Amino acid sequence: MHRTTAQLLSLLALFVLAGTVSGSEDAAAPRRLRAYGVPSGAVFGAIGESQLRVMDAFQKRHPDVTLLPATGITIPGRSMDTQPLMQIAGDVSPDVIYVNFRQSDTYIRNKFLYPLDRYFEKEAGVEIKDSHLLDTQAYYEKIMAGRHIDDVMRERLPRIVWDVIHRRCPYGLECPYVKEWGGTPAAEHNHVWAIPQKQVVMALFYRRDIFAEAGLPDRVPETCDELMEWARLLTNPADNTYGLSLPTDETGWRTLGFLYSFGGRAVEQGEDGEWRCVFDSEAAVGAYTLVARLFLEPFTNQHGTFPGTVGSGDQSMPGTKYAMWFAYLDERAFESIDPDTVGFGPVPKGPDGLRGQRVQLRDVRPIRRQRGPRQGAA
Ligand SMILES: [Zn+2]
Repeated sequence: MHRTTAQLLSLLALFVLAGTVSGSEDAAAPRRLRAYGVPSGAVFGAIGESQLRVMDAFQKRHPDVTLLPATGITIPGRSMDTQPLMQIAGDVSPDVIYVNFRQSDTYIRNKFLYPLDRYFEKEAGVEIKDSHLLDTQAYYEKIMAGRHIDDVMRERLPRIVWDVIHRRCPYGLECPYVKEWGGTPAAEHNHVWAIPQKQVVMALFYRRDIFAEAGLPDRVPETCDELMEWARLLTNPADNTYGLSLPTDETGWRTLGFLYSFGGRAVEQGEDGEWRCVFDSEAAVGAYTLVARLFLEPFTNQHGTFPGTVGSGDQSMPGTKYAMWFAYLDERAFESIDPDTVGFGPVPKGPDGLRGQRVQLRDVRPIRRQRGPRQGAA
């Protein structure tokens, strides 16, 4: 119960901050806030119910704000990578959008986002002169020392996320926000660009019934080698059963865990603050040799000889059974699985015993409107 309350409150904080950002300049006019997370129609299940309760709580605190869902342009078959950008290009973007870690640099560099420094400082109950000149560690310490920071905020804002949400300002000396706030202009300075919504981690899910039928233990494979061995054992295309689901729509993203478990990295930040690709490594060769073998190496099991053990469909597709798949471990996972037939565990270890996986921060950011940084949603 306490946990549920904490989550509701942290979501609420998100809307309070964001609503302040995009409020109309005219205090008398009703304010309309189009925000990610506002349901656009009927809601279902525990998650839908919690969304409605959050909205109700928000409306009680802010009766002058009308919440609207973030729907706009929808492009069939296009992923979340394309749609928000098309909405921004068409000047029909919601005021509060969902941007994830891997997209965040693009949004910041293209000046799509509005800096939240003042709102963070107000929520924390601190006043920091020229806070844009502080590095991430110093800024984090000042915010966390704020008199309004409680356990909910601490849980929501762990140190690790600050390297992503607190980043270099693309405007440099010409920053309009520093000017607006009366701060000291600086070629290199930082702002906070996002409010973390929640953190999720990737897990390996497996069908307990398929494992049991094959005589495998009731657990995820311990190593990448065991994963391949079990996936091959369980593959039976005649029965539409595949060892592992690895959809090919975003293969790089879906296989990144193998790279990390082999000790590789995709990007690293240099001394100069710039991020560079570092996947030209022996670790990457090892990881993607394994991925290639999963897809393409022929093998023989009790059902016959097959060209690979991976099914490229999504595990939720009807008619096809996948013995294992990677998915985020979050409340949606628990809503959609039956624990009697589906189990989960950590991603398998690589050859050196490393177990690496992507930690994803779901964050939501107020967007800087095309026609001016303070334009409201009205
Ligand atoms: Zn700036």
